[in-house]
Amino acid sequence: MIWLLYAALVMISGYFVLAPLFGKTNNFDLGLCAETELDRLLDRKAVNNKGLNDLEFEYKMGRLSDLDFKQLETSYKNEAAIILQGIEQLDVPKIEKEKGNKKGLSRASTKCPACGAETAPGKKFCADCGRRL
Ligand SMILES: [Zn+2]
Repeated sequence: MIWLLYAALVMISGYFVLAPLFGKTNNFDLGLCAETELDRLLDRKAVNNKGLNDLEFEYKMGRLSDLDFKQLETSYKNEAAIILQGIEQLDVPKIEKEKGNKKGLSRASTKCPACGAETAPGKKFCADCGRRL
């Protein structure tokens, strides 16, 4: 019975490895497990990046023709552009920036206890002497 499990596993992992090469990444319905629109887009971005890496790997291994590679690479890059556009439209950088500013205000006057050098907020080590902050 165990071999059946192995066979199923091999087929499933094989599908996930090969699917991006032959179809669109949209085949993965990641929207189901994502909580927010941002999560969904970040998941799509991660899958797309992985697909592109796999594609480059397959190409370097000589398993893809130049034409196939170019076509698939273009579709991945188009997808990446669409995802990035979607993320920008969510206005997330602005929110993150505001969070960062608040953090910066509360920890603006951080000084290294060893050498007295000013350190950037959120840093774990002093840039001047390397002491842990
Ligand atoms: Zn220091």
